Amino acid sequence: MKSRHILISGCSIAGLTCAYWLRRYGFTVTIVEIAEAPRSGGQAVDLRGAGRTVIERMGLLDEARMRSLDQEGIAWVDEHGRIRASMAADAFGGEGFVSEIEILRGDLVELLQASVDGVDCLFDDSIVELSQDAEGVDVVFLSGRRQRFDYVIGADGLHSTVRSLAFAEEADVVEPLGLCIAWFAAPAFADCQGWYHNYNRRGGLAASIRPGRRPGESKAALSFRVRSGEGAGIDRHDRQGQLALLRERFDGAGWHTEDLLPAASNAEDFAFDELGQVRMDRWWQDRCALIGDAAAAPSPLSGLGTSVALVGAYVLAGQLARCHDPRLAGRTYDRLVRPYAVESQELPGGGAGFAPRSDLGIWLMRTSMRLAGRWPLRDLLARQFAKSADIVLPDYSDCRVVDG
Ligand SMILES: Cc1cc2nc3c(=O)[nH]c(=O)nc-3n(C[C@H](O)[C@H](O)[C@H](O)COP(=O)(O)OP(=O)(O)OC[C@H]3O[C@@H](n4cnc5c(N)ncnc54)[C@H](O)[C@@H]3O)c2cc1C
Repeated sequence: MKSRHILISGCSIAGLTCAYWLRRYGFTVTIVEIAEAPRSGGQAVDLRGAGRTVIERMGLLDEARMRSLDQEGIAWVDEHGRIRASMAADAFGGEGFVSEIEILRGDLVELLQASVDGVDCLFDDSIVELSQDAEGVDVVFLSGRRQRFDYVIGADGLHSTVRSLAFAEEADVVEPLGLCIAWFAAPAFADCQGWYHNYNRRGGLAASIRPGRRPGESKAALSFRVRSGEGAGIDRHDRQGQLALLRERFDGAGWHTEDLLPAASNAEDFAFDELGQVRMDRWWQDRCALIGDAAAAPSPLSGLGTSVALVGAYVLAGQLARCHDPRLAGRTYDRLVRPYAVESQELPGGGAGFAPRSDLGIWLMRTSMRLAGRWPLRDLLARQFAKSADIVLPDYSDCRVVDG
């Protein structure tokens, strides 16, 4: 592509990865991020298959391994904290429910940010208007700044602004999964001995605690079911409303939930959302494209959201470097990544097993997890995990590398 100045909306996994590759190919890159700094927080994200390969091609795999969580595995506990079922981290060749490399989302963002050089970052700002013509894109920012770019990439997550401005209304492309989740750092109330503990309670409640990387810190999550499409009925930015709802739903829920509720209130990195999947027919236009969750969020239940973001960012940057015509770059990126992204959205049972509504459902889930390591379920699951979405990555090492 002859054009050279690219604007990326979203300074997270997809946006930073795309910026890294575009810089390597000699583009000028600006990132706009609505938060005041790259958003830390979140629990662990998985580096699997091709996602791990992208990190390796960026020369970051050793560092990612060093920062990855030292986890024994995943366990399902009852209200007394007794382990009812478990799966070791090395089960299914390290590609089971817990993947071989799980890294705190904030650590991965930090690692990616440190690898990106020479990028202009506009924090605490957002795109509010976009208009494309044959030669470029005129952008108006919330801050009042106006600038023309050669190409704009939406890497701004499930609730993407670029997608709403240039592609489709959120309600038309986001399929809610009927599950709200809050992520936050919490004191380590209990010694989980390296295990990721999950607790389920009738009514579709789920709570979890996993080891953090700092001594005395754990990463926690509280989730609850809502009627699909109705959401929590709370504004996405209303933290007090979200905390009140968590208190209402988890009142008397047992296990460590009584400790987790105040921890959620005090956490600096509290994040809350209703999970959803993004389904779109097309991720590109003349001079604009979407990557990561903005294009094809598979949801955290898939364990593949981060890998899909890494792969999409890598392929779009490669195609922009390789193709003279930005439309051809967008079209080819879409064609190459789509089968992988679509497959990553397949959730066994639609994801309902994550937070069963009834005691029977919880019992069935724990029993199936207990049997997962034994024949015949073990062989069935091994086939399922082996089939997990993956993609052979194109090689862009022939693309021009220039000093930008
Ligand atoms: C705070 C947080 C915590 C998370 N925790 C987990 C977790 O524990 N487990 C898990 O599996 N997944 C988690 N996720 C989601 C996970 O990061 C993504 O599913 C996946 O990695 C794909 O990354 P992405 O870069 O496409 O999207 P995201 O990581 O969601 O990043 C989108 C970025 O765009 C920014 N943004 C949003 N709107 C605008 C705007 N208008 N203008 C500019 N910037 C904007 C956001 O602040 C964010 O930095 C979390 C996401 C966030 C933001």
